[in-house]
Amino acid sequence: MSVIVGSIFKRQPGYDGCPHEWVAPPVAVQAISVLEALSEPHRALTARPELWLRLRRGNGAWEWHEVQPELLEIASAPRVSHLLRRFGAALGLSHLDKPWRLTTHQGRKTFARFAALRDRSCLFALAQHLGHRERAQTDHGYVGSDYRLNQEIDAEILNQSVAAWEHMLAAPGLGGRAGAEIVAKRPRFRGSRMKQDLRSYARLLVDAGLVLGVCDWGYCVYREEHSACLGNATGPNPARREPSTCARCQNFVVSAQHRPYWLEQVRRSERLLNEPALPLQTLRIVRARMNEARGLLRALGSDTAEETDHA
Ligand code: SF4
Repeated sequence: MSVIVGSIFKRQPGYDGCPHEWVAPPVAVQAISVLEALSEPHRALTARPELWLRLRRGNGAWEWHEVQPELLEIASAPRVSHLLRRFGAALGLSHLDKPWRLTTHQGRKTFARFAALRDRSCLFALAQHLGHRERAQTDHGYVGSDYRLNQEIDAEILNQSVAAWEHMLAAPGLGGRAGAEIVAKRPRFRGSRMKQDLRSYARLLVDAGLVLGVCDWGYCVYREEHSACLGNATGPNPARREPSTCARCQNFVVSAQHRPYWLEQVRRSERLLNEPALPLQTLRIVRARMNEARGLLRALGSDTAEETDHA
């Protein structure tokens, strides 16, 4: 795992200037490699390590002019904002017929809202990532009650549910406890109108309230009385919803598209089981999780079982 190492400046006594690490996904690592390559001549010239050294000469592209080390400086926040706005204009970004003003803060806020509104159980990790002292700050300041965004997310959830039902009604095999139930009870669709019939039936199920929870590791056909995560009348409990709880839940379905996720779980467990230093209790949990993943993969088809046996 890569991390960006820096300091947090929140203007709070005892917290300002605290060292902090941000998890860096591959795309951030790549962006920093590009910055390193671009800034290399300026850094060599000034013997300074900063990545944002630019010529103090307005906001144009002056990089190919002769460089005097004393004219190089770290771009200020207003200058970065100005350049971002020019970048947004060059891309033709607009909203309601007005040019969209790109800012660095928008990326951070969009990420927080997207992550937190879809699954609020991630708020604690998100608050740590953003360097907030309290989870409530993330919750109120960044997530809040954004009516329009909520509407967009609801529409997206309905579309995802229809597509997932279509897939489950046609898939040759399904795993998970609800998967076996669906395979036994689903109607058969045949003939030239099969695709349209499947879609109408899937929409019917969603309109009747059978909205699915869609996540990387499977589908949740939510019924409160069977919910292993102890959900309530409004849906699953995000604090307890995680792959292992779902794997033993009566609402859970996996299909072929979740195979890579569970295969990776088997491989990760096998790697952990080869760690001699792990305590016995941890090894027991890892083994139980590996068996859980293998069981789900086996339910999806024999080729998968062979895959996991050789993984
Ligand atoms: S444990 Fe998973 S499958 Fe079961 S109700 Fe909760 S979210 Fe759905």
